[in-house]
Amino acid sequence: MKIWLDGNLVDESEAKISVFDHAVLYGDGVFEGIRIYNGRVFRLEEHIRRLFDSAKAIVLTIPWTYEEVIKATVETVAANGLKDGYIRLVVTRGTGGLGLNPYLCPKASMFIIASTIQLYPKEHYDNGLALITCATRRPAPAALMPQVKSLNYLNNIMAKIEAIQANALEAIMLNEQGYVAECTGDNIFLLKNGVLLTPLISDGGLDGITRSVILQVAGKLGVEVREQSLTRYDIFIADECFLTGTAAEVVPVISLDRRQIGDGKPGPLTKRFIEAFREEANSTGTPVY
Ligand code: PMP
Repeated sequence: MKIWLDGNLVDESEAKISVFDHAVLYGDGVFEGIRIYNGRVFRLEEHIRRLFDSAKAIVLTIPWTYEEVIKATVETVAANGLKDGYIRLVVTRGTGGLGLNPYLCPKASMFIIASTIQLYPKEHYDNGLALITCATRRPAPAALMPQVKSLNYLNNIMAKIEAIQANALEAIMLNEQGYVAECTGDNIFLLKNGVLLTPLISDGGLDGITRSVILQVAGKLGVEVREQSLTRYDIFIADECFLTGTAAEVVPVISLDRRQIGDGKPGPLTKRFIEAFREEANSTGTPVY
């Protein structure tokens, strides 16, 4: 596998960063996860824009222009001959001292991994997921801005541990006020009386790019959308529920905390969203070849 590292495509065995990089010492950096479908990079511009926005919010200067990052991403996919797969793009704060001070890290590093992806098994899409609510809360936006896709994922990892210990594949994370924020790596949607509901980003979720695709698709399907604060109760009484994320795509949910949602099967509108998403994924994107 060829890895793009600070301007060069190098062999996987040579792709190394320093133990003094603040990404390693403090989780100080930002990243993106992007999909390749049919030899095209899906929503590439949006992902790179979010990367730059995340970096700006944490006062991290990416030593490459937006256009250069786009080009480097496409080059990495091409160098690995991928038609379908997953891209992980990481910008680290760079090497500095052992103290926190990011101003003592003179230059950020960037690396890009383009690889195949291990998807959820097909049965989860056919049968839907059973979710739990975890005790780990999303941090308040004033503590850690939810829009920033930073390398600081310990909060989500704590939630993921709870999900795994409860034999669930995903967990609902609430914010400090008890409203639904998101899952450990996915945004959440409900359908109630034909209306599509999703939490406000200000309730603590990542401003997901798959989420934005679903909002666009809702427009095309003529489904009314409401972004509003949601509670567990809203999920319990929803007709349908699904999650969205770059890796998961659109995955139906059939229960929360052992309460069946709707009739306990992936719902008809959910299936339409899954189809419409696949159509969008397979027919749009930045060509690599
Ligand atoms: N929430 C979290 C915490 C995530 O890490 C992700 C990305 N995997 C998402 C939501 C979904 O965002 P996107 O659709 O942009 O992948």
